[in-house]
This record gives sequence, C-alpha cells and structure tokens, in this order.
Amino acid sequence: MENKRLYTVASVKDSIRRGGLKPIKSLGQNFLVDGNIVRKICDTANITKEDTVLEIGPGIGTLTEELALRAKRVIAVEIDRHLIPVLEENLAPYENVRLIHADILETDADALIQKNGGGGPAKVVANLPYYITTPILTGLLEHTRLIQSITAMMQKEVAERIVAKAGEAAYGSLSVFVQSFADVQIAFSVPNTVFIPKPNVGSAVVHMERKEKDERFDPAFFAFVRKAFSLRRKTMANALSANDGYEKRAVIQALQAAGLPENIRAEALHAEKLFSVFKVLRD
Ligand code: SAM
Repeated sequence: MENKRLYTVASVKDSIRRGGLKPIKSLGQNFLVDGNIVRKICDTANITKEDTVLEIGPGIGTLTEELALRAKRVIAVEIDRHLIPVLEENLAPYENVRLIHADILETDADALIQKNGGGGPAKVVANLPYYITTPILTGLLEHTRLIQSITAMMQKEVAERIVAKAGEAAYGSLSVFVQSFADVQIAFSVPNTVFIPKPNVGSAVVHMERKEKDERFDPAFFAFVRKAFSLRRKTMANALSANDGYEKRAVIQALQAAGLPENIRAEALHAEKLFSVFKVLRD
C-alpha cells in the first residue's frame, strides 16, 4: 500500500494540485515527502495506541496520517484555511483525527487537549513552521500542564541552541529556558531534499521530555536569564546592570556569594549556577 500513502512525492504534488495550493513561504510551508522521515519522527515520539497527539501544522496531512495510524487520537491545528478542504479529504479515512482551524499561538493547548483528547496528557509532534519555532516551544513549555513531550522538526541552528550546554557557542537563554522544562536531545538531522518545496536551511528533529516542575519555573528567573545573556560579549554583571537593570554592586555581591568571579559571563554558567545567582539577588 506504500503508493497509497500521503507522504509520496506524487501524492503531495497531487494534493497541491487538487487544492489549487501554492505553498506559502511566510507560513513556513515545506511539506514532507519521505516515508522514512515520517516514521522516524513517530518512532522518536514513541507514539502508541494509548496516546493523544497534538500536531501543529498538519499541512496536507503527511505526518498526521502516520500519527493517526499509530495513536489513539490526533488533534491537528492548522492556520491556513486553504489547506482545510484538502486535509479533510486526505484524512477522511481516519476517524481518530480532529482538525482544528486555528493559530497555535492563539490557542489554549490545555483546553484543546481537555476538550478533544479525553483529558490528556498528550504528546506534541510537529514539523514546525520555522518562523515561529521559539514562541511555539516556549509557549507550550511555560503555559501548559498536559503536554508530556514534544518531538519537533525545526531549523538545525535552533535545535543546536536548544540542546547546547554551558560554554558551547550556541548556548544562550533559549537553552536555559527549554532545558529547565525538559530533558532534550537532537534525535536526528534531516536533509532539505525530503521537503516540497525545499527549505534553504538544514533541519533536525528534537525530542523534549518534560521534567517534574521545580523552583526554576519562575517567570522572573527567565527574565533574569534573558537579561544575563542580552549583551553577549559583556560580563554578566554589565549585562544585568545595563538599561535600568539590577544594581551592579548587588550583582557582584551575588556572584561572590555564589563563589563566582565578578567578570564571569552568562555563557559560562549552567542553569543551576544561574539560578543560584538569581536567588541571591531575589531574596
Ligand atoms: N506537517 C506538514 C508536513 O510535515 O508536511 C506541514 C509542515 S509545514 C513545515 C508547517 C505547517 O504549519 C504548515 O502547514 C503551515 O500552514 C502551518 N502553520 C504555520 N503557522 C501556523 C500557526 N501559527 N498555527 C498553526 N499552524 C501553522
């Protein structure tokens, strides 16, 4: 039945033709046309018949179909109304798919999962629209309770920032933020030949497994981290005290209290150390 599946080049081209579609670049529309990648994404997410899956941006339904075959149910949120008729047609054989025409950034994912997903928890699986990867991930991690994991294709450079460790070039506030909420790993890299149209950046699939909540889940800590990394070539004391920030003397005292030199840069500190400096300043 391989040739009947949505992920073939012929099938994706046929969907585009039937829908009178023109992939919209500004919505990050790069459709997958490779069954191996589609299966590898679902393997990485470890989807079973028990699972409720929230898919972001189903496109023409390529990944949705594989998810529908493996999961208990799939809730798929697509912003582009032009895709909805094609999606409805392509996914008609799968009764466990619920299509939602909405902007994920304007959607209360917990409410959606509760309403359509039997109360959750749910796994997020997506070939993300790259232009909003960061707001989607940070929004889901910070503002939901019902999402247990996120397995997402994204621009390789963003994947590298998410998994970077202290001292590495890609390490920054995004690394600290995501790693505070989840255990993260790059599952595999993806060449641009598996999409129509081809994106002009490399891609990778990242798996994020949510951690138990801890005291670092504090919006004030994340604001502190953003500020600490805001002036990359400056010391942390200078970055934190710039633009009406913290008092420089207080930052230096907090660094000393945490056993750190006053000229340290945020890039050198892992999340726990950053949190200990933040705590001294806060308390
Ligand atoms: N899942 C499909 C695939 O793998 O072939 C399509 C992936 S494509 C990279 C990203 C999809 O996200 C597109 O269908 C696009 O229309 C949709 N999208 C873009 N912005 C969105 C938003 N704010 N909310 C929901 N979907 C969005």
